[in-house]
Amino acid sequence: MNALRTPLLAANWKQNQRWEDCEDFVAQLRQLLPAYFDSSAPLGVEVLICPAYPYIPIAGDLLSEAAVFLGAQDVSRYADGAYTGAVGAEMLADLGCDFCIVGHCERRHVFGDDDAAVSEKLARLREAEVVPILCVGEQLEVRDSGKALEFTLGQLGAVRDELQRLEPGGLVIAYEPVWAIGTGRNAEPADAEEMAGAIRGWLKTSVGLAQAEGCLILYGGSVKPANIAAYAELTNIDGALVGGASLKASSLAALAEAMRGLL
Ligand code: PEP
Repeated sequence: MNALRTPLLAANWKQNQRWEDCEDFVAQLRQLLPAYFDSSAPLGVEVLICPAYPYIPIAGDLLSEAAVFLGAQDVSRYADGAYTGAVGAEMLADLGCDFCIVGHCERRHVFGDDDAAVSEKLARLREAEVVPILCVGEQLEVRDSGKALEFTLGQLGAVRDELQRLEPGGLVIAYEPVWAIGTGRNAEPADAEEMAGAIRGWLKTSVGLAQAEGCLILYGGSVKPANIAAYAELTNIDGALVGGASLKASSLAALAEAMRGLL
């Protein structure tokens, strides 16, 4: 963490949590993190919840009084129109989403999102003024071959034109090694810091100093209350994108408290 940037804890609920789960989750979170529900004092760590599309307005209503951000897990590459099944960036903005995950490895590998799709999604989010959380990261064979930095910076390079169009501070990058997602395996903190430093260096030379300094870089991949401090304390890492461990309010609250304990 770095005093220049406010750290972010982002929960990616994926295709989990029904209506009742959302209600239980928020009721528990209110007990566990009361400062996020009734304090006007600075909280130090921002918390973001990204539910599945149908539950965004439900979570939004439940969290309407809370200092907790709302986000989406993906967005259509197209502006509104005849795209059956798609959800557009303007719709997300309309529902109160401040952030949207883009290029998550499950979207890239299960749904076939390629660099062109990721780039168009970044453009739609920029137009709708929703901050993208751009996910990048290598598969295990790439890490084992020693090419993780090259591969991950290549994913950024593929969407550089769009990144250059974003306002400084209007971008979050999540470094998520694919082999660490949902597997219980974690990147070595030193490797995560090396990657985050390389991403920040790339932003400086390829996008601009203001974006390099303002961009939040998160680590994602089997983050849990017991290991989050090892990442959040790193100079170039500004928080975490968390899947499995964000599904229980007790676990999300413990993650937030662990991060706040480092401030
Ligand atoms: C993710 O899906 O972005 C993620 C980091 O998942 P998990 O925390 O479950 O590894």
